[in-house]
Amino acid sequence: MNNLSHAYIFLGTEEETMVQALKLAQTANCENRELAPCGFCSTCQRIESKVHPDLVNVYPDGASIKIEQVRKLILILTEKPVEGTKKIYILHEAHTMTLQAQNALLKSLEDPIAESIVILLSNNLKQLISTVVSRCQIRDFSKLGLKPTLPVSLRQKIADILLHTTQKGEIIEFGVYVKELSDIDERSEEILEFVISLYRDALLVKTNSRAALINKDLEPVIYKLGSKLSVGTILKALDLIHEQLKAVKSRGNKNLIWYNLLMGLEEVV
Ligand SMILES: [Zn+2]
Repeated sequence: MNNLSHAYIFLGTEEETMVQALKLAQTANCENRELAPCGFCSTCQRIESKVHPDLVNVYPDGASIKIEQVRKLILILTEKPVEGTKKIYILHEAHTMTLQAQNALLKSLEDPIAESIVILLSNNLKQLISTVVSRCQIRDFSKLGLKPTLPVSLRQKIADILLHTTQKGEIIEFGVYVKELSDIDERSEEILEFVISLYRDALLVKTNSRAALINKDLEPVIYKLGSKLSVGTILKALDLIHEQLKAVKSRGNKNLIWYNLLMGLEEVV
């Protein structure tokens, strides 16, 4: 299991991400190496039932995961696995971590411990600080099975427009791009969902995640986006796109939405 990272963010619902976290814990510790996770060895079964000694769960204490909880976690983080190869620490609803808690955890993510794997389960990347995000491999389980619905040529065109926003001052033809986006006949909601998936993909590339890209066919563009933007910028961009998605859902002015999107994307760079 040498190819496992020391820290992950699993994105998606609590149920789905927990299933995936347990699968990773089984893969790391299964007694049948060739079949890992075999699902039937004692280790796999006890992990499945959440009673394995090398499985540590941290849940929010009330509304948030507090710094005291993270401090406690850091203290045991250096302990050797009791019986398995890796100790697995699962932080549930990791986005509820207070800022101090995240900063405390950051130090541990910077100095990985060979026999420990930290998994943050979250459905809200925006609440995590970018320095934490950039030290974790992201696996996005929220978009499982999601296939691009817009035509390829249109996706390419939108992606090209977005690339222009990555360089400050490059949007000279700002109005032209806004008009181009406004003229697209498809539903604005689908276009924005696509834009979100594009930035999500860029984030995956940026954090060296081996997870499959949603927009595999646009890989060159995604790598370009990834090379021009920092993790912090991508998170801010995602925030902004979600805002415009909200505007679309409340039937905002189409031109204004695209204007705000492009303007905002350029501003966060
Ligand atoms: Zn097993």
